[in-house]
Amino acid sequence: MKLEGVHHVTAITGDAPGTVEFYAGLLGLRLVKKTVNQDDPTVYHLFYADERGSAGSDITFFEYPGVPPGRAGDGMVHRVVFRVPTLDALDFWDRRLTSAGVETQRGADALLFSDREGLDLELVVDRSGDEPLQADHPDVPLDVAISGFEGVRAYSSMPETSKALLEDALAFEAVGESTWVARGDQRGGSYRLDPPPRERPLNGAGTVHHVAWASSMDEHEAWRERVRVAGASPTPVIDRFYFRSIYFREPSGVLFEIATLGPGFTADEDLATLGQALSLPPNYEHLRDKLKDVLTPLPDPRSSSGTSA
Ligand code: ZN
Repeated sequence: MKLEGVHHVTAITGDAPGTVEFYAGLLGLRLVKKTVNQDDPTVYHLFYADERGSAGSDITFFEYPGVPPGRAGDGMVHRVVFRVPTLDALDFWDRRLTSAGVETQRGADALLFSDREGLDLELVVDRSGDEPLQADHPDVPLDVAISGFEGVRAYSSMPETSKALLEDALAFEAVGESTWVARGDQRGGSYRLDPPPRERPLNGAGTVHHVAWASSMDEHEAWRERVRVAGASPTPVIDRFYFRSIYFREPSGVLFEIATLGPGFTADEDLATLGQALSLPPNYEHLRDKLKDVLTPLPDPRSSSGTSA
């Protein structure tokens, strides 16, 4: 039983329209689902992914309008790493980001930058052999387009305490010091623990809320049982409508989710029109008229060049 890499990464934003500009407009991802936080339906939950809304490609945002900036610290994911097809793609992104006023840092085979709220992002050349999960943006050719997650990096002051849960319960494979890979039949995703900064962690805009790992539909309950037996405290299985989820903290303090690979975002929308209308889980459908007045208006993701913000 293996997890199929990263399912999604969820971050916090104080500026939902800004995420449309940045992730859809500039980075060229597709806004595949515009829904609400199932624990607080007055705020958005936005999903940016490849063209099909595949697990393995979606970075999602809970919006808390105007929430102050946070700061990644001990027990938090501090960097989200995406794949791109080639070294040339790094040059493309370096130019595109720089001309949009985003500061970049170019490494030999990586490009580092932050989104408008300070969330650290990295592009690396894809050497996984996994299927590239790409969106179809008019200004971003497929030979340079973002191709899904490579993984995440988190801060931990005690990475050795995470080892047993990661390796024995979750079947992550150690690939270096404080670095692991969750690799299934289809995809893999990496998890690296770095020494934390001295400053206290602070949840807020531009920080990651949790990272979700992908499970087949059939094995989901079994993962929950493994996590429980390993001494973590998983939530019951929660039906998120587009997938089913359990949540728990791994021993370094990072909030993990294990999410199923189905039913997926076409559960309530056609592939062609994903993300265009506000999608509400059935139990919130009766609030639709009210929510329309409360939720922040968003720009059209595909008419935005991303360079105006
Ligand atoms: Zn999640």
